Amino acid sequence: MPRIDPQKAVGVDVGLKNIVALSTGETTQYPRYYVQAEKKLAVAQRDLSRKKKGSNNRQKAKIKVSRLHEKVRNLRDEFLNKLSRKLVDSADLIIFENLDINYMLKNHHLAKHIQDHAWGKLIQFTQCKAAKAGKVVELVNARYTSLKCSRCGIIVPKTLADRVHLCPKCGLKIDRDFNASLNIRTLGLRGRASGDAGVSGSMKQEALSL
Ligand SMILES: [Zn+2]
Repeated sequence: MPRIDPQKAVGVDVGLKNIVALSTGETTQYPRYYVQAEKKLAVAQRDLSRKKKGSNNRQKAKIKVSRLHEKVRNLRDEFLNKLSRKLVDSADLIIFENLDINYMLKNHHLAKHIQDHAWGKLIQFTQCKAAKAGKVVELVNARYTSLKCSRCGIIVPKTLADRVHLCPKCGLKIDRDFNASLNIRTLGLRGRASGDAGVSGSMKQEALSL
């Protein structure tokens, strides 16, 4: 496997508020136009559920929902294409958590898990572009990445509501997602150094294409 300058490795933590938090300290939020389109879709879906079965109005509502669905999907893909392009351009080694693919597939048909689909797609798009650019995507075990202190390594328990990582041992105080991205980067680099390169991209690619 090609040798990679650790300076050119980036750890990526995916999330709900910020779609990505990077080990460089940068974050990217879901664009507003996308969030708004998603809300519109949710409203249209609610409308549809209230229409009488077999009615003309229900037919119209159905068409509206499917149009909005397509719009959301297009906006999402467009945004994820840009974001994955940025990731691949900025680093030689891009490290993500290996998301629980079984969980994602189980919830495939639930609209509220639309965010999970965005994560899977982001990884898939990044793998695609990285392969073309001769760069590498690693997936690492996601266990403890948000709990572990990225500086001293102790486990610092937190709930989902705790947005800040504050280490009682070494005093490190940083955003929780930033802390996670640093752990993800460390795991990815360690995995490559030991020859255990985690889950290979191509193997999981199919499962991720939701
Ligand atoms: Zn610490």
